[in-house]
Formats: sequence, C-alpha cells, structure tokens
Amino acid sequence: MFSFSSIKEYHSFLANTPNGCVLAVQHYLQKIKDTAHLNAYLEVFEEEALQRAVALDEERNLNKPIGKLHGVVVSLKDVICFKGHKVSAASKILEPYVSIYNATAVEKLLNAGAIVIGRNNCDEFAMGSANEHSAFGVVKNALNEKLVPGGSSGGSAVAVQANTCMISLGSDTGGSVRQPADFCGVVGVKPSYGRISRYGLIAYASSFDQIGIFGNSVEDVTLVLETIAGADDFDSTVSDKPVPDYLNEIGELSVNKKFRIAYFKEMLEHDALDKEIKLNILRQIDQLKAEGHIVTPLTFNLLKYIVPAYYVLTTAEASSNLSRFDGVRYGYRSKKNFTDLTEMYKATRSEGFGKEVKRRIMLGTFVLSAGYYDAYFTKAQQVRKILHTQTTEIFKDFDVLIGPTVPSTAFEIGNHSTDPVEIFLADIYTVFANLVGIPGISIPLYKHSNGMPFGLQVMSSHFDEVNLLAFSRKLLGR
Ligand code: GLN
Repeated sequence: MFSFSSIKEYHSFLANTPNGCVLAVQHYLQKIKDTAHLNAYLEVFEEEALQRAVALDEERNLNKPIGKLHGVVVSLKDVICFKGHKVSAASKILEPYVSIYNATAVEKLLNAGAIVIGRNNCDEFAMGSANEHSAFGVVKNALNEKLVPGGSSGGSAVAVQANTCMISLGSDTGGSVRQPADFCGVVGVKPSYGRISRYGLIAYASSFDQIGIFGNSVEDVTLVLETIAGADDFDSTVSDKPVPDYLNEIGELSVNKKFRIAYFKEMLEHDALDKEIKLNILRQIDQLKAEGHIVTPLTFNLLKYIVPAYYVLTTAEASSNLSRFDGVRYGYRSKKNFTDLTEMYKATRSEGFGKEVKRRIMLGTFVLSAGYYDAYFTKAQQVRKILHTQTTEIFKDFDVLIGPTVPSTAFEIGNHSTDPVEIFLADIYTVFANLVGIPGISIPLYKHSNGMPFGLQVMSSHFDEVNLLAFSRKLLGR
C-alpha cells in the first residue's frame, strides 16, 4: 500500500516504482472519497490527475530528467486560478466561473511536475477564521468533526491533515495559512509579501495577500517555496530578489546555528491566551536557552492596535477589490427583472455575496468614506508605518521572533457565529506579519490536554526565509 512521509522519500520510492505516480494518485483519490464528509474539497480532478500521473510515470521510465516536484500531489485553495477549471472563492457570485489562465504559482508547480488533484473549500473570498463562511458549507476538523479547521484556508489545511494530498496551497492575508495549520496540526508557511507572485490569486486585500504552503514537514514546504517563489512580469509587487536554494541553505543552519530569538512579552501575557498554550511556549523558551540560543523578551506596546488596523485596512482594500464582481464581467448574475444597470448590480451583489463578505464591503466603504477617512484609514496606515519601522529595528538584533499562532486551540463549529468581533480578536498573533510583510510559519509542536494540536509561530525579517525555515526545521526535526 502507498504511504507518504516526505517528498524526498516519495522520490526514492518513484525511482524503484514504474507506476509510482499512479499509485500515489489512486491512493489520494480513495482518501478524498473516504473523507468526503469533511467537505475539504469543492471539486476533485479525478480523471485529469490520473492521466497526468500516467504521463509522468512514462516520462520517468524513459529516464528523462524529472522536475523538483515530479509527481507531487497538490490541492489548491479555491482562490487560486488553474486554467480551464472553476475557481469560485467559495462564493455564489463566482460559482460558474472558469479560470482562463494559470496563477503563476500553479504554472510553476506544473512546470516542476506537480499533479493538481482538486480545489479546496475555504471562507468566501478568504474572509474568516473558521471556514464557516463558505457558500458551500463548513469544513470539519479531521481530528474532531465537531470542531472548526480554522480559516480561511480550512479546506487546504484539512486536505493535508487528512492525508488526501502531499501539499496544499492556500492564501494568507491575516493568518489564513498559519491559523488553520495550527488548528489542524500541520505546517503552514506564509512567505514575505512579494516572495510569491499573486498573479492568479483572487484578491482580498492586495497589500496583505500572499500565497502560502501547507505540508507535513518544513522540508517539504521549503522545497515547494523555492519552486514557486520569484520574479514575475505579471505581478509588479512581487520581488525580483533571487530565490535562494532554500532547502540546501537551511540544512547546515538547522543543525549548528545558535539563533538570536526574540518574543513579545505582551503576546504571552495577553488575557485571551490559553494557559496551557502559554505554558508550552514558556517551556520552549527555557529549552532553547538551555540549548545555547539567545532568547530575549521584548516590549511591544502596539499590540492592541494591530487587529483594528488590520480590519480597517483589509476591509478598505476588499471593498475596492470586490467592486469588480458586478454581474457583468464574472460569474453570477441575478435572474430578477431589472430596468436599469444599478438595479442589476444591486440584485446581483445582494444575492451573490454572503453575509461576512457584505459586512466587510460595508465596513471598508465606511472607513474610506469622506467623513471618516482620516479617522480610520489614515490612522490605520500610520499604525502600519510605525509597526514597519519598529520591526526593521528589531530584526537588526534578532534572527527570529517566536510566539503563539492562535490564542486557543480549534473551537466548536457554530460557537462564534454571533459575535464577529470576538472572532476578529483571535487574529491577534497572526495579522502582525501581514501588516509588516514579514514571513511567518506555524509549526505543529504541541498537543493540548483537550486532545487538539497547536503550533509555535515563528517570524523573521523581510525576505529572511532562510532563518525562518532553518529554525523551524530544527524545532520540528523534519
Ligand atoms: N481571519 C482573517 C480574516 O478574516 C484572516 C483571513 C486571511 O488571512 N485570508 O481576515
């Protein structure tokens, strides 16, 4: 029977197994069927994935050089364009829409030999923290089906958690890769803003959005990162900094380097933080010190501003980005009888968008309105600027910043649906990295006495994925 532990081992297996890619795809297709009740997939590309596996096996058997991600079975969050396939952002408004091009990240995956097996459920337009805002139903946590998987990339996290694929791509605007990774007990990395092209990623808040990667090990996500990162003519915000050979570079460092580690006292002392999570992180700090790393507590007095700044800025950007869904250019159009264009827009948008998306469009429109712009939008931009300056200073003296990923473990489905602010506040640890554009990762190191996993969040300086991944590889041991 096929089993997967790492891409490296999978590639050794393929070297001795002529039909190895087909075996892998068959295995995952069965797994997807067995776990269909988790609702992690909106669509499975069964035939196509099998055909591609056959073709890849043939190529390999002809001794052609194989790609870095040869035969690697990947799923995509439903906000990432895959040519000729539906992409709906888990929204009714885009439901019938078929992508006419590949996202650059997908193009690079395919060029490296990956197999795309399906598209994953998520919160509508990536807005949410529990995957309860999908137009296509909630996603369940595979470890306890009463609990949420986190969001917004909940389907992608569960896809990896439930062993239905090797890797999944998600997107992270304020924690949507790291938070579900934490809730599901998998690795989830959000690189620096501008490390991976956003071309073909449906926009939520363009100055925050970044494609992220879920996997079982730091090594696997590192290999995928070095494959899909880098300059792109189709995205003017992506960096043209050369992409290091991440996997090679982290090898040595993850064994021998003594890291300079910081943490924010205010994050660990926050009232909302679960006591056991706090205890585990304090223990981790002691252990790191005992191993000869330098660990320093820092004061961070802006903690209470980061969630408000995040929600002001992202909703503002969202209200602008989502104005394009008007019933003319994409997807769904209301079937009502209308006599003018405005009526058609109104009917289409009222019927097509879900409640959370509407809430955010209205919030964003409000903070951008003439009378309130300075009080909200400008202020939030100022907070963002100060955070950026402080962060640059911090990383002059430290390699990584550590802390919790989320204040609690996965909560019950339906628990927070009446109070949106309560759920917004739970983003307190993750939005920081998006506000300043630095990379962050959640690594599944701990288990709570309630049976659920949780992670350690690690952040590093802009474009310093090497320290981020080397340190994480050291802690996770894979
Ligand atoms: N939970 C955050 C939000 O609802 C993060 C979403 C995301 O990263 N896409 O905005």
